[in-house]
Amino acid sequence: MKMFELIKDQIKEIKKIVFVTGAGISQESGIPTFRGKDGLWRNYDAMKLATIDAFYENPKLIWEWYNERRCNIFAASPNQGHKAIAELEKYVEVVILTQNIDGLHQKAGSSKVLELHGSIVKIKCTVCDFKDEIVTEFLEIPPLCKCGNILRPNVVWFGESLPQDIWQKAIILSSQCDLMVIAGTSLVVSPANTLPIYAKQNHAILIEINPEKTEMSSEMDLVLRNTSANALPELVSIFKNN
Ligand code: NAD
Repeated sequence: MKMFELIKDQIKEIKKIVFVTGAGISQESGIPTFRGKDGLWRNYDAMKLATIDAFYENPKLIWEWYNERRCNIFAASPNQGHKAIAELEKYVEVVILTQNIDGLHQKAGSSKVLELHGSIVKIKCTVCDFKDEIVTEFLEIPPLCKCGNILRPNVVWFGESLPQDIWQKAIILSSQCDLMVIAGTSLVVSPANTLPIYAKQNHAILIEINPEKTEMSSEMDLVLRNTSANALPELVSIFKNN
């Protein structure tokens, strides 16, 4: 009970927690992040692959990357960080706004998860309205729609808009929470990185859990330079023992 000591008494009064999570929370489940040494695949920069331009330039390459990611993600298990957030639901209202596409929060048992950037199981047509969810690891490359056009992962790539219904809900939830825990995100991807501002406007407590400094670290009420799998179980114990 050391990490959260400074704000432990305030935390006990909390009724609504919003988690904003990113690739870092799944790093301890063996899923690489996009930044740092992990962000390379076959010597390509993941940041450049996750774009619509890269897809249209070489759909086969992007689908090979997604097939490998699907395989890795389907084999992965939630870690202590995901599990702790799921357990917190027993004690307090919890919503997760995740930038991740890996489904590990749901696999851990969390019931309220908004996927801001889509999901690895989802696909959609690049031309018609066809959408589907496919849970097999590998898709034939490149997968084709019944209309004859190419299918793409139904995820939000850099430069694309978020699904507006989900984004509007995320803003409302952030504006109403008492505590926002920001775990495993570099907070450089817009617009997800504006969510802490909405929480702050509601005078919510902001906690960042990240081994590295982020651009918003100085705005936080508490910064834990630790991994999410280490820090989050301790947060649960505060509510459990309250
Ligand atoms: P990011 O790669 O930009 O940043 C990851 C952050 O996590 C870094 O700040 C890093 O210091 C931190 N981190 C690393 N290990 C950690 C740990 N064990 N515990 C806590 N923090 C840790 O990720 P982002 O901010 O989510 O943005 C990148 C985009 O990448 C998002 O749009 C997301 O959709 C996508 N992405 C998702 C997955 C996934 O679904 N698991 C994986 C890679 C990328």
